Amino acid sequence: MPARSSERPNVPRRIDFHSHSFLTDGQTSPTEMWNEAEALEHRALALTDHVSLEDPRPLLERLRQEARAWDGERFVPVVGVELTKVPPRRIADAARAARAAGAEIVIVHGETIVEHVPAGTNHAAIDSGQVDILAHPGLLDPRDAELARANSVVLEISGRRGHALCNGRVVRLALEAGAELVVDSDAHAVSELIPLETARRIALGAGVPEERLDAVLERTPARVLEKLRGG
Ligand SMILES: [Zn+2]
Ligand SMILES: [Zn+2]
Repeated sequence: MPARSSERPNVPRRIDFHSHSFLTDGQTSPTEMWNEAEALEHRALALTDHVSLEDPRPLLERLRQEARAWDGERFVPVVGVELTKVPPRRIADAARAARAAGAEIVIVHGETIVEHVPAGTNHAAIDSGQVDILAHPGLLDPRDAELARANSVVLEISGRRGHALCNGRVVRLALEAGAELVVDSDAHAVSELIPLETARRIALGAGVPEERLDAVLERTPARVLEKLRGG
């Protein structure tokens, strides 16, 4: 049983800032992903389909159209992008373009060890001042963890196979540096969404101490969501 679930049974708390629809390489529509997240007691799910240097407007317009189904509802469908394999020197510009096109959240596809991601992506993302979350940072450099703290870039504990291989290192360096962490699913299908209890186990397994679980699972995600909606 999730801790304290009996005290607040009707308030969804799970917030996930990283997922994909069939608009890029996911398996279902944004509407179906959001519908499933709501059913799995999420408070919010960001659809962050992959973009590089192409015009992000058609993607974001489509996501916004589907998000309107939740106007006035408690569930929050967040519209965003995951900048993916953009040359590091172009990441800041691409992030600005996505924001100008209506992205509520900009995350960057970090240097996971299971793909060829351009070297320097982690640093460029954290240094850009334009990025909310660095996804699956892989062999994160301790200096970049320090910079993430200084620039308020949140580092991701990944629920995705392969990308999750470096979660232990990411957690250790983030804790040492004082950088904030979240647990994201990187779901490409409804079956890959992560309920709160699973997110708790992933965080514990990656080395998040018990006393930091509330920060990683609830306080940081809630703060990021407030920032996105307020700004
Ligand atoms: Zn993908
Ligand atoms: Zn990614």
